[in-house]
Amino acid sequence: MQNLIEAHSQRFLPYLTSRQIDELEDKEKAVVILPVASIEQHGPHLPVYTDSIIAQEVLGRTLSLLPDDLPVWFLPLLPYGKSNEHAGLAGTFTMKSEVFIQTLKEIGENVARNGFRRFAILNAHGGNSEIIDFVIRDIREATGLLVFGLHVYLRIAVPQSGLTEDEMTYGIHAGDVETSILLHCCPELVHKDLAPDGTPHQLKKINTPPFMGPLNFAWLTRDIAPTGVLGNAQTADPQRGETYLSNGATELAEMIQKIVEFEF
Ligand SMILES: [Zn+2]
Repeated sequence: MQNLIEAHSQRFLPYLTSRQIDELEDKEKAVVILPVASIEQHGPHLPVYTDSIIAQEVLGRTLSLLPDDLPVWFLPLLPYGKSNEHAGLAGTFTMKSEVFIQTLKEIGENVARNGFRRFAILNAHGGNSEIIDFVIRDIREATGLLVFGLHVYLRIAVPQSGLTEDEMTYGIHAGDVETSILLHCCPELVHKDLAPDGTPHQLKKINTPPFMGPLNFAWLTRDIAPTGVLGNAQTADPQRGETYLSNGATELAEMIQKIVEFEF
């Protein structure tokens, strides 16, 4: 596992001095990226920091793909997200929706106050998505910033290769994809012998995928996944984890280049 800040210190905005930030050139084009994820239960086999590890791994690889002169900065990871779907399961540290909304808004307002014009939230936790979708518009309206939501593995670089139809539909949490990525980037944190098959069979029976299904009900993990896992972690494979990471970085790098050039 790489240390994101040390590996990309030249793009870590808080390593600059106040004066350097004040006098930065290219603020018109520069993108400030806020990575956000979660600390939440990820079944018996993955650390509760899984989404945060994935956000940092994929961002690190993405930054490595960008031309050195592209004006891209990143802020420290916000590891706390909205994870109340995992309420009652040990290791979950969630913010209330209101607090998460307000935190994102205030970070966006600070990006604007510092003279930047482009702000991107890089999200690696499904439970944060709906909030980010509406908050970016609120930030846009309040500050005039150009604001973007980048939902990696949720809408960008959605993993398909090597996955069954079932896993693509129901494998949304601590299943094959996340386990594969962690087996690749930090196998020392994975308890592979404890990895369950957590395919949510009762959802399959009523044909209701956990997101975006026609009957979109407010599930809690404890209602539908006794192991805390939605998906099959037993089929995970570190080589596919590497593929998912490199695909994620390639697609994110393209998005970030588009953001630098973006105009209405
Ligand atoms: Zn996760």
